Amino acid sequence: MHVIDSYKNLPKKFYHENKPTEFDLAQFIKLNHDLLNELDVTLNEEDLLHYFNGSKSLQGYTAKSLAYSGHQFGYFNPSLGDGRAHIIAEVISKNSQHFDIQLKGSGRSQFSRNGDGLSALGPVLREFLVSEFMHQLGVPSTRSLAAIATNEKVYREDELAGGVLVRVANSHIRVGSFEYFYARGDFDALNELYQYVQKRHYSNLDTELNVFKEIAKRKVKLVTKWLGVGFIHGVMNTDNTSVAGITIDYGPCAFMDEFKRNKVFSSIDRQARYAYNNQMNIALWNLSVLANAMMPLFIKSSTETQVIEVLKEFFKDLEIYADELYLKYFAKKLGIFDPVKEDRKLIEDFLNILENESLDFTNSFRNLNSFNFSNNEWLNQWKERLKIQNKSDDEVIKLMDSVNPYLIARNHHIEEAINLAYEGDFSYFHFLNQAYSHPYIENKEYSKLTQAPTNEQRVYQTFCGT
Ligand code: AMP
Ligand code: MG
Repeated sequence: MHVIDSYKNLPKKFYHENKPTEFDLAQFIKLNHDLLNELDVTLNEEDLLHYFNGSKSLQGYTAKSLAYSGHQFGYFNPSLGDGRAHIIAEVISKNSQHFDIQLKGSGRSQFSRNGDGLSALGPVLREFLVSEFMHQLGVPSTRSLAAIATNEKVYREDELAGGVLVRVANSHIRVGSFEYFYARGDFDALNELYQYVQKRHYSNLDTELNVFKEIAKRKVKLVTKWLGVGFIHGVMNTDNTSVAGITIDYGPCAFMDEFKRNKVFSSIDRQARYAYNNQMNIALWNLSVLANAMMPLFIKSSTETQVIEVLKEFFKDLEIYADELYLKYFAKKLGIFDPVKEDRKLIEDFLNILENESLDFTNSFRNLNSFNFSNNEWLNQWKERLKIQNKSDDEVIKLMDSVNPYLIARNHHIEEAINLAYEGDFSYFHFLNQAYSHPYIENKEYSKLTQAPTNEQRVYQTFCGT
């Protein structure tokens, strides 16, 4: 086990050293042994529980809550930071990758403002299931190392059982981390943050502008994958936007059942800012916020006017890049190996059918070969398109099955697992974890999980984790 403390090399204003709250009655709900192994963490369960329940700290590592700002629903908030999270270690994995291990729901920090720093069990289990599922889908994400029941109450609208999530990220640096120092006019700190990010995530790149461009490309790739699997993040604020290309901060997120372009789940997203089909626009908007915050770094060697010209061109190209990635991804979902521009129409026509007939996004793609829907004209066009690419049926099906999951983490099942957990029964949570481990492989044992919800089962709204 190889523990390091890289944040320590940054000035103290980047974080507060806070001890996590001690939860003496805490118990594991789930410990992710595969991930422990990948991280080369060799501690036994008893010790791990002590590190995760706040009663022990790893020798040589001081727990940290990071400082950041953020644009929340378009409005700037200069002082956010980890109000309910503590990084308790950084480790080098078996693959020589550097990861943070963070507790979420681990009590108050200097950034808590009016919050209690705690989390109910529900959001912990939701993030555990969905983040691990995203990883298994091949979508870059924070991962979940453990879910813990604190066996203490938290007070929301109701009194609820409390939980702590132990999550793992390639780093917890966000767009909002850059905004924090930009807003304070502290450009030395901004530069130190940049150096840290460059060294940790973009060590093959040399200039500030090139690093920014790569951050932007990773973000666009990530959101393309979200769209491809029908994922709606729900709170794409800049403080929830990683600069390392991963999905971070699962709150009111959800996967779509029936396809609807402007689908929103989150109860707090009243303007539909973070609707399914607005996610790429918002990603670009968030990146423009990052570009603005990095401006003092860009203009070291050129004038602001020159930089703005370069950025304008870059953002134009980025939109084209996003369109190309989208075309490639969705073409694959239709079994098309080398898409051409015209395939976009085939894709959109198919999505129109799904939307008009309220069909299930995941199942419609997965079962396309045996699908019955009223628009046969589209089916004929699709079959004609497949014919001209000279690929066998097997090759086509293999391609499709590699991007069209057999099952997704449907909201009604997650809700059921959470409701049962509040009654003390974690069996359904464990069952889902098991089921979500191979999402592209057909497994009749889990066929129930592939079904769209009935009207009674349907979850209309999701709520933030606070
Ligand atoms: P989110 O959008 O859920 O990622 O959270 C936005 C901000 O609110 C972050 O700075 C969080 O640390 C903070 N926050 C959320 N819930 C709590 C809580 N229960 N106690 C303290 N801070 C919180
Ligand atoms: Mg957040």
